[in-house]
Amino acid sequence: MPFSNLGLSNPILQAIADLAYTSPTPIQKQAIPIILSGKDLIATAQTGTGKTAAFVLPILETFNKERKLRGKRIRALILTPTRELAVQVAENVAKYSKYLNLSSLAVYGGVDSEPQKQRLMEGIDVLVATPGRLLDLAHQRALYFDELEVLVLDEADRMVDMGFIDDIYKIIARLPDSRQNLLFSATMTHEVRGLADEFSDSKMSYAA
Ligand code: AMP
Repeated sequence: MPFSNLGLSNPILQAIADLAYTSPTPIQKQAIPIILSGKDLIATAQTGTGKTAAFVLPILETFNKERKLRGKRIRALILTPTRELAVQVAENVAKYSKYLNLSSLAVYGGVDSEPQKQRLMEGIDVLVATPGRLLDLAHQRALYFDELEVLVLDEADRMVDMGFIDDIYKIIARLPDSRQNLLFSATMTHEVRGLADEFSDSKMSYAA
């Protein structure tokens, strides 16, 4: 099955072709149509399966249809356990959105927050963040979640292992109720399932 059967439009298909991806991976085939339909999704996926494109491509597709962004607002929040993963995911967002007029940024701790705050001033379509720095920035009113449309928890089991569960619950408590939730995890532990239940609704789908 080619990428063109998944409901993605030309600017995204062209970006994928530039990267020489010929066909979608199994998680991409399963997840992309579900995410495009607006449903919540819980997916078991290891690193290397193409999981990043599985959630980034349909988010970009959805956002490209309607361009709207206000200062200090973000539309998608992708939470990752580490700075390295945040940077890597943001690099992928940039590659996949190169023919789209959408903005993206990675924010993480251990570096000066001023440049991150400056970038957030104009609003960011797709923000990739580690949990601690994201909460810092929110407390400093450098960003607001009132227009958030999609939350992604990437490598949820690693975030739990690294002790981020309280931060994640604090973040979820600040988000609008009417949002799409996507959770990706290599393993489905008790804690990860608890997280999934926290944001679950009747529309939830599963992929593996
Ligand atoms: P991930 O599992 O998201 O870390 O992706 C693993 C690697 O696979 C990354 O280097 C991606 O660029 C690459 N990749 C993702 N989707 C595809 C695809 N459909 N065809 C070929 N490579 C892919």
